[in-house]
Amino acid sequence: RAEMAMKKAKERGKNNLVFFTEDIVDDRQRFSLKNELYEAITKRQFYLVYQPKWSWEGVVTGFEALIRWQHPTRGMVPPDEFIPLAEETGLINLLGDWVLKEACRQIREWNIAGIRDVTVAVNMSAVQFAKETILTDICAAVEEHHILYSSLIIEITEGMAMQNPDWTVSMINALQKRGIRVHLDDFGTGFSSLNYLSRFPVDAIKIDRSFVQNIGVDKRDTSIVNALLSIVSSLQLNVVAEGVETKEQAEYLIRHGCREMQGFYYSKPLPPKEAIAFCEK
Ligand code: C2E
Ligand code: MG
Ligand code: MG
Ligand code: MG
Repeated sequence: RAEMAMKKAKERGKNNLVFFTEDIVDDRQRFSLKNELYEAITKRQFYLVYQPKWSWEGVVTGFEALIRWQHPTRGMVPPDEFIPLAEETGLINLLGDWVLKEACRQIREWNIAGIRDVTVAVNMSAVQFAKETILTDICAAVEEHHILYSSLIIEITEGMAMQNPDWTVSMINALQKRGIRVHLDDFGTGFSSLNYLSRFPVDAIKIDRSFVQNIGVDKRDTSIVNALLSIVSSLQLNVVAEGVETKEQAEYLIRHGCREMQGFYYSKPLPPKEAIAFCEK
C-alpha cells in the first residue's frame, strides 16, 4: 500500500509530500472502513432517515429514505463515503437488501398506524440495480411486508441508467407494471442525451441540487433549470427539485412550473417518528 502511494506521489511530481501522506491516511481509512462494514451490518449500526418531499400546494407528498451509519468511534459516516466501499467489497448486496426491507417495514408500520397513502423512495446503487435478481428482490421486500407496490418508489441515477440502457428500460417497465414508480435521480449531472430522457419511461426526474442551488446566482445554471422544467413538462414527466434551501429557490421553482420539491428549506432528513410528526404539523 505504501509502495503504491509512493508510486502515485512520484507520478504526480516531486513536490507532493502532502498528497503522499494524505493518500496513505485516506487509503488506510478506506481499508478499515471496508473491514468494518460487514460488522456494521451484523451489529445494526445502520438506520434510515426520511426526508419529506413537498408539493407546491404545501403538502407532504412522500419521503425519500436515506441511509446513515452510526459508527462506534467515527460518529456518523455519510453514505457518499461508504456506499462506494460497499460496492467495491460486494457488501452492497446485503446492504441494499437491508435498505429495501427496512423501508418496506417502515411503510408497513406507518400503514398500521393509519397512514395508508405514504410513499417512500429508495435509492439504488449501480451494482444493486445491475443485479439479475433485482426485480425479484424488490418484489420480495414488498410482499414480505404486505404493503402496496404503489407505496414504493425506486430512485436510479442517470449514470446508472446509461450503463445499460436496454436493461434500464426493461427494469423500469417491469417495475411499473407492478405499480412501483421509478424516479431518475441527480438529473443533469450525468451524460445522457435528451434522446435517452424520452427513452427511459420514468415517472419523474429529480433535478440535481447543484442546479437548484445556483438559481438566481449563476445565470447558466438558472437557464438549465428553466430548460429542464420546460422539457420535462413537454414530455409530460413529473419533476422533483432537490436541494431546495431557500425561499427564493422554492418560489422561483414554483413560478416556473415545478410542483414537487425537497430540501433543507422544507425539512432535513428525519427519524421515522419525527417524519410523521412533521407531516401532521
Ligand atoms: P441523493 O439520493 O441525491 O440524496 C439527496 C442528498 O442530498 C442526501 O444526502 C440529502 O441529505 C441531501 N440533501 C437534501 N436536501 C438538501 C439541501 O437542501 N441541501 C443540501 N446541501 N443537501 C441536501 P445524503 O443522505 O448524504 O445522501 C447522499 C447520497 O448517498 C444520496 O444522494 C444517494 O445517492 C446516496 N444514498 C443515500 N442513501 C442511500 C441508500 O440507502 N442506498 C444507496 N444505494 N444510496 C444511498
Ligand atoms: Mg435520491
Ligand atoms: Mg439526488
Ligand atoms: Mg446525490
